[in-house]
Amino acid sequence: MTVKWAKRIEELPPYLFAEIDTKKQEMKAKGVDIIDLGIGDPDIPTPQNIIDALKKAAQDPSNHRYPSYEGMLSFREAAANWYKERFGVKLDPKTEVVTLIGSKEGIAHTPLAFVDPGDVVLVPDPGYPVYSVATSFAGGVSYQMPLLKENDFLPDLDTIPEDIRKRAKLMFINYPNNPTSAVTDKGFFKEVVDFASKYNILVCHDAAYTEVAFDGFSPPSFLEVDGTEGVGIEFHSLSKTFNMTGWRLGFAAGNKRAISGLGKVKTNIDSGVFQAVQCAGIEGLKNYSLGMADRMKIYEERRNLFCKGLDEIGIKYNTPKATFYVWFEVPEGYSSKDFTSKLLAEAGIVVTPGNGFGKYGEGYIRVSITIGTERLAEAVKRLKNLRV
Ligand SMILES: *Cc1c(COP(=O)(O)O)cnc(C)c1O
Repeated sequence: MTVKWAKRIEELPPYLFAEIDTKKQEMKAKGVDIIDLGIGDPDIPTPQNIIDALKKAAQDPSNHRYPSYEGMLSFREAAANWYKERFGVKLDPKTEVVTLIGSKEGIAHTPLAFVDPGDVVLVPDPGYPVYSVATSFAGGVSYQMPLLKENDFLPDLDTIPEDIRKRAKLMFINYPNNPTSAVTDKGFFKEVVDFASKYNILVCHDAAYTEVAFDGFSPPSFLEVDGTEGVGIEFHSLSKTFNMTGWRLGFAAGNKRAISGLGKVKTNIDSGVFQAVQCAGIEGLKNYSLGMADRMKIYEERRNLFCKGLDEIGIKYNTPKATFYVWFEVPEGYSSKDFTSKLLAEAGIVVTPGNGFGKYGEGYIRVSITIGTERLAEAVKRLKNLRV
């Protein structure tokens, strides 16, 4: 029997990184010392107080049973308290917060709750690929909002055609941004709120990187501007904040009806997050500044090191104030793919080509500085020897 795939799987865009992966494996087999700057996954371990909280909670048999669908109330309370402390935003933990199995899960399920076949979803390009894939899984149609250098990598809402605005049900935005590392202020969020209220569009702000910031910069929350009963929900992840990518824990917060809509989808698909993991998350959120400055200092040092290397070979970029990515322009005469291949072949460095995040990412490369400082220094050394 030949198993037939559904169209939604059959029609997925080709896996752009497959070719790089194959080449990387080939070179590794030949004994080449590869430095991987491709994956955005923190190398620094989860803080000890969080690990200890998991150990303790795992010993308690009452945590071994099915968790509640919407998440433990104590976790949602910890999330609401953190919002109050960090952003000055008041949330009702019972109705305005839902626990997620990582924010990717929540983002992927959101279109199922709000998008009917043929509805439009506004997605950033370049952007986190889940926004558009989840849209197409729900039968929706993505409309790409270009993130261009001349607009500081913010979408230009004025250029969205009237018929698209009317058909749009959701808009995804993400600041601090992956992959461009761009940040924004409340002024842009206010613009989005006005636009979304006028056209009845639910705003989904992916806030995975609000706690990964440097130079004294403190990224705002969309909900600071949105107010009560607003037009949006915000996705938070403990992954990047506390180096917990493997733990799978996040939450969504904001508009009540939107949170309950997402909750309805989840109730029918998953059974929540292991309670011991939620207990560990409570510990993290309650003591969120513990060790934070030290972790940010490490990223700041790595950013300085890497950017200095780019300066020395004359490559253009904007200095990131947040995220652990550097988004740089490929030298004259190369495409994203060409330069990615060259870096791998001639320097043994794996990076992510910008066009992997959408067509407006063409001409850029994303580098993730989630490797040890010594290895990063080695990567910079190899970069300097590259002939461009
Ligand atoms: C890492 C990342 C996420 C997903 O985080 P999880 O909570 O681990 O699922 C979501 N959005 C962006 C932009 C990310 O980079």
